[in-house]
Amino acid sequence: MKQSCFLLMLLAAFLMNNFAQTTAELAEIWDKEHVTNKMPSNVRHSDLKAYLDGLRSLGLKVDEVGRSYANREIYQVEWGKGPRRVFLWSQMHGDEPTATSALIDMFTILQKNHKKDWVKRLEKELTIRAVPMLNPDGAELYVRRNLQGIDVNRDAKNLETPEARILKQLRDAWQPEIGFNLHNQNELTTAGSTPQQAAISFLVVYGDEAKTESEGHLRNKRIVALMAEALQPYIGGHMARYDDGWSPTAFGDNFSAWGTPVILIETGALHGKDEMFLVKMNFIAILTAMRSLADGSEKAADPAKYFNIPNNASGLLQHIIFRNATVIDRENPLTQSVADIGLVFQRRRAQFSSPTAIRQVGTLSSIYGLTEYDASGFNVVGRVQPIKPGNSGELLFYKKDRKVDWSAADLEKQFEPDAMLSLGKWLKGEGIVPLKK
Ligand SMILES: [Zn+2]
Repeated sequence: MKQSCFLLMLLAAFLMNNFAQTTAELAEIWDKEHVTNKMPSNVRHSDLKAYLDGLRSLGLKVDEVGRSYANREIYQVEWGKGPRRVFLWSQMHGDEPTATSALIDMFTILQKNHKKDWVKRLEKELTIRAVPMLNPDGAELYVRRNLQGIDVNRDAKNLETPEARILKQLRDAWQPEIGFNLHNQNELTTAGSTPQQAAISFLVVYGDEAKTESEGHLRNKRIVALMAEALQPYIGGHMARYDDGWSPTAFGDNFSAWGTPVILIETGALHGKDEMFLVKMNFIAILTAMRSLADGSEKAADPAKYFNIPNNASGLLQHIIFRNATVIDRENPLTQSVADIGLVFQRRRAQFSSPTAIRQVGTLSSIYGLTEYDASGFNVVGRVQPIKPGNSGELLFYKKDRKVDWSAADLEKQFEPDAMLSLGKWLKGEGIVPLKK
């Protein structure tokens, strides 16, 4: 008895060690072999086609499965020969691109490493189908909706968009046992009530309002627990659980209702890390899920760990906060006030500068900035609009001891500012307004 216990422990230790090694191996293999070479937000439909040509040349099956509203091709990639059907789709919201690149890297690396044991196992057990960039028109314009102005992810019931019809048809014809719905969330989303950005959020999506739990949902919780565990060394403290409110017209909820329980992965951002880092995180998470399905290791995972992941939260974080600025209203220069000014960036492709908007003005003591400045030595005035919530975040900074006629017609020329923030960057006077310690 004792001996068999010991053997079991040895086996468990071996499996765990093997598992840990393979997770590190996933990171390493992505570092060495990923093929996507543009920031995901810069990837256009034409770039996707070039990536898919690369997959075809490796021998992967890539099929056109329909056209978007503007007649752009929508593709499905297939890999594997196994009985278990796994379906993924990305970028149904055009400005949510990270996972599209992760899928391309995944298929490339699986195909190139098909002689490795762990890949052979995936190939034998699974057939993976994925639609990268379901909404190519939205992706081209870098907007959420399709060209009809419809949110494809609210069109699972009405099926007014060609993109939604294609997605539903692919599921209905193939009846996959699990689905992965791949999105991006607001980059100021936080992990619980902390100022930590949620770089990745997960959700096991139920198929009804009562959250009836099937074995598929339980399995998905175990898989999310494993994905979170795999990402822990890289983004520990920066993972969260997406809001699980029932959305009767959304695809994740309806896939789950139709018999394909869905895991939602929402990529956020991590200050100081670029988009490619997040592609790598997606790659590790998705392949961890694939591996756990193929080798059955998901069955040994603890679904309770899913609930240890903190909830998504919002409202705690802004991109830039200027603390204790003296805010000047040019129309009433005598009424000055000392306040914090919070700015947020708008979502743009990486190749373009992002305009900023003023989110809040006041005492922002419970709000954190990804970057914070001590503006207590400065009078601050809006460059194009007064400093008010919703207005442009273009700002001029004047040292407090300067005499300035705030009503001057061409203020910027007549009284050159000491520092100027434009498009979230210092156009002038970088380093003059000190970073807050
Ligand atoms: Zn989305």
